[in-house]
Amino acid sequence: MSKTNENEMKLEFLSKSNNEAFARITVAAFVSQLDPTIEEISDIKTAVSEAVTNCIVHGYEDKLGVINLKCNLIDNKIIIEVSDSGKGIENIEMAMQPLYTTKPNLERSGMGFTIMDSFMDDLKVESILGLGTKITMTKTIKKEETAENAVTLEEALRG
Ligand code: ATP
Ligand code: MG
Repeated sequence: MSKTNENEMKLEFLSKSNNEAFARITVAAFVSQLDPTIEEISDIKTAVSEAVTNCIVHGYEDKLGVINLKCNLIDNKIIIEVSDSGKGIENIEMAMQPLYTTKPNLERSGMGFTIMDSFMDDLKVESILGLGTKITMTKTIKKEETAENAVTLEEALRG
């Protein structure tokens, strides 16, 4: 990595539900250097929450495991990878259908992947049964012309 307009961070944390807020706030703080709008940062936070919740609820279920998060900034684009070493997804195409859930009894609505897909520009799901799942999401930040409209770090850290 040589270009000055590139940046990267990596994070590793346990699959505890408290860490869902930790992960989305950390990504929001990291991406704030691209001067995103409130809406862009809110979309990114929601997508990260959905991806991390899936690792906790589906990937590891009742067990405790490690979730890896990697963010790359390339020019005005953020690439977010969220991965677990949990049970994996049997049929990715089916899992990505709106309203499809394997846990209807746990108040899951089956909309996580649909939300990630609509709030981000691109969503890729890779999974191997018994080995784990990796979600890659990309979004281009349409840099605010006026600095007043850009999210400050303090705003990014809120919730
Ligand atoms: P919601 O996100 O609305 O609470 P949900 O989590 O069931 O419900 P999605 O996030 O769209 O819905 O995921 C669909 C299905 O894909 C899940 O029910 C689960 O079977 C599977 N899945 C998603 N992420 C993982 C993961 N990290 N590991 C294993 N299975 C997963
Ligand atoms: Mg989900």
